[in-house]
Amino acid sequence: MNVLFAVSECAPFVKTGGLADVAGALPKALAAQGIDVRVMLPAYGPLAPILANAEQVGEVYGVDGAKRVYLTRAEGLTLLLVDAPHLFKRPGGPYINEAGVDWVDNHLRFAGFSRAAANVARDGIGGWRPDVLHVHDWQTALAPAYLKLDQRGGPPSIVTIHNMAFQGVFPSTEIDAMALPRWGFHPEGYEYFGQVGFLKAGLVYADRITAVSPTYARELTSAEFGMGLQGVIAARRADLVGVLNGVDLDVWNPETDPHLAAPYGVRNFRAKAQNRTALAGRFGIDIEDHAPLFALVSRLTRQKGVDLLLAVLPRLLARGATLAVLGSGDHDLEAAFRAAATAYPRRVGVRIGYDEPLAHLMQAGADSVLVPSRFEPCGLTQLYALRYGSPPLVARTGGLADTVIDANDAAVRTGAATGFVFAPVAAGLLADAIDRACDAFADRPLWTQIAKRAMKHPVGWEVSAARYAALYSELVGGAEMTGGADGSDD
Ligand code: ADP
Repeated sequence: MNVLFAVSECAPFVKTGGLADVAGALPKALAAQGIDVRVMLPAYGPLAPILANAEQVGEVYGVDGAKRVYLTRAEGLTLLLVDAPHLFKRPGGPYINEAGVDWVDNHLRFAGFSRAAANVARDGIGGWRPDVLHVHDWQTALAPAYLKLDQRGGPPSIVTIHNMAFQGVFPSTEIDAMALPRWGFHPEGYEYFGQVGFLKAGLVYADRITAVSPTYARELTSAEFGMGLQGVIAARRADLVGVLNGVDLDVWNPETDPHLAAPYGVRNFRAKAQNRTALAGRFGIDIEDHAPLFALVSRLTRQKGVDLLLAVLPRLLARGATLAVLGSGDHDLEAAFRAAATAYPRRVGVRIGYDEPLAHLMQAGADSVLVPSRFEPCGLTQLYALRYGSPPLVARTGGLADTVIDANDAAVRTGAATGFVFAPVAAGLLADAIDRACDAFADRPLWTQIAKRAMKHPVGWEVSAARYAALYSELVGGAEMTGGADGSDD
């Protein structure tokens, strides 16, 4: 089974969030199931050293002309790099410029990339041909649309929704520039309230849709979580399945993690304390023995509920607890966290920015990791927290609801509890959960029980990779498109 992953970011090469972690880990887990996954990625500037050692395997058309495609192996992955310097070799991030503003031609960049993915899916490249095209989020969601609308056949496709909040909506005046066939511009096609909807196109034209957790898949049919696309989701309900994300157990392993002050596991759990001390030292925080050091590693946006955390900070501190924050995002939230660090010196430590090694130390050094998201398609930081024995404190939404077992009386008595869960998402209930965590922390045997149980919670990819593998087989066995087919939906 050959699968083409088309994706706009992939750890450790280029990362803005969980999508990259998934793209970097899932293909390896699929390889263990005997699936040959090639990860197609734009050759962004920072990939230049990898590109230099890659082998050119062909050229592919992508909206504004031919682009060279390079093949290489790196970090356990087989990469197909699409070389289009005028689109992707720029300073800044994959989607934003150095001033933090979206590139004005993002629609052309990712339409071109999606078109290239569709062409590689249909024609193969370098003697390799995929059986399934698997695209991720809005950036590559046009690829299934190009495949279907071109009416020249091609393999079946899957679109995975990592976050419905980012939909890729652009003016209809750009339709021709994106080489999209006009006859797809209608409500049952890629049209979205008079504009072009990239993610909408994927939801309409892909043969299957997956969401990154079962709860999120259910939530997406409501207006609150569907964010305008709930009707499209409802119409495709039979083709939608929730498959929980996992974590790369080699990269996120407290026994071998090179970024920790001291390695530890369930057996030498005591050594975790050295990381706590190291983390507090890094942030200049005075920790107390009887009260937890909480950590937040997050994009600083409303989605993540971090404004609620700011609101309840006095209550957290009143318990003797402390807080370390690593994140970047909305400027007002960044400023508010900076102000909190100034207002509560040696109690609240804040780093604005992106720091992968520090993110690892925070998972290890924190007593508990906070994830108070308003919505969370899957969430990875709570999975890292489980693995690192730092019982996560999370909102009961999306993948958070599917992965953390609240330390209520029943769960504590049966030894099942792995963290703290609150709902609905409101400041008062977050504060109550923080109180409960502080109470549990003061009871050291209880806390150790919860933390060790968390570490044993399976967070790897094995089960979910098998589900994707089954989905691929089902698609190839059933809904395969043939060359010259009429291209209509199944
Ligand atoms: P999302 O993709 O919505 O941002 P996830 O929880 O799925 O949320 O994934 C976030 C990923 O990004 C995790 O790997 C987390 O450790 C990482 N991350 C978020 N913010 C930072 C930061 N400031 N520095 C380092 N890593 C970060």
